[in-house]
Amino acid sequence: MSEDFYSVLGVSQDAGEEEIKQAYREKASEYHPDVSDAPDAEEKFKQVQKAKEVLLDDEKRRMYDQMGHERFEQADKRGATDSGAGGMGGQGNPFGGGGGAGGMNDIFEQFFGGGSGGSQTGPRQGADLKTRLNIDLEDAYEGVTKQLTISRPERCPDCDGAGHPPDADANTCTACNGQGQQTTVRQTPLGRVQQAQTCRQCDGEGTIYSETCSTCRGEGQVREEATIQVDVPAGIHSGQTLRMEREGAPGENGGPKGDLLVEIQVEDIEAFERDGDDLQHRLAISFPQAVFGDTVEVPTLDGPVEMDIPAGTQSGETFRLRDEGMPRLQRRGYGNLFVKVQVVTPENLNEEQREALEAFAEAGGEEIDVEQGFFEKLKSSF
Ligand code: ZN
Repeated sequence: MSEDFYSVLGVSQDAGEEEIKQAYREKASEYHPDVSDAPDAEEKFKQVQKAKEVLLDDEKRRMYDQMGHERFEQADKRGATDSGAGGMGGQGNPFGGGGGAGGMNDIFEQFFGGGSGGSQTGPRQGADLKTRLNIDLEDAYEGVTKQLTISRPERCPDCDGAGHPPDADANTCTACNGQGQQTTVRQTPLGRVQQAQTCRQCDGEGTIYSETCSTCRGEGQVREEATIQVDVPAGIHSGQTLRMEREGAPGENGGPKGDLLVEIQVEDIEAFERDGDDLQHRLAISFPQAVFGDTVEVPTLDGPVEMDIPAGTQSGETFRLRDEGMPRLQRRGYGNLFVKVQVVTPENLNEEQREALEAFAEAGGEEIDVEQGFFEKLKSSF
């Protein structure tokens, strides 16, 4: 179930053009897949775009208001699948090209005020795509090569990205007289404002084709699975992004592909806590080890090493093992491993241990009421 276009943008039914544009800019930047971490960001982003397309077009908005959301969506689907003019007063897909990756370029042009007529027909680089890759700490330590399978837009194989069969009849777009641009003149309080924008009917091509490619519904792109090899360098941190050049969405009009941005998520393991290039390990030692000192085994990502605990170590003391941390990304050397020791207090003593500890306390001149622990005292008070 898709959401009503007004609620998608969070505007009222009588919202004006400026209000809709403003709401669109806010929502689009919130859900832009390059920005948002939400899993449904791409879907939301598409809804926001579609809502804007319809609500900013007087004709479409009127029909939308009349038909209601569900019926409009159904009519739109039929219009997009039928070749030629559908019931929406336009050829093929009433929402124009865009869609998928092309739409992302559009939005940046809208944001930054670019989008001169020429860029619509000239080569245009495809959109960057974004995905995530989880690796574990050992892989981040060693560096790793991973196979990553993603679904991404590819140039439609049946029409080679044109959006129409090669033998389709080409007609000059009547909406823009083949210019690819429409000029609108609006009367505003500040005077007449002339605005040129990409023709929605032909998506700036200036040409309307008699048939739409049935494989890609005229988009020129289809989604396909691709497996990409990602070389993750040693020392990478969670949240860092690798840029895989030319692995993104296909370009338009012979433009190059966009890039694929792979955000790395490094999963912690039990034994270590990571802090930058340093690691921390918690080590439990016994009271005698703390008192007399000992040589203990400490795990590192490079295998166990020996560490000396000096006599008289206090619980909570931290020792540094130099260069036993993570490799420094794109630099030489390693971080440190900090070993924090905790002296474990024995909970269950056998008779011999008990006597030894009592003797220990006595020898130190300590008086401990060992015979009557807390619970014994409680009982005897009744
Ligand atoms: Zn196609």
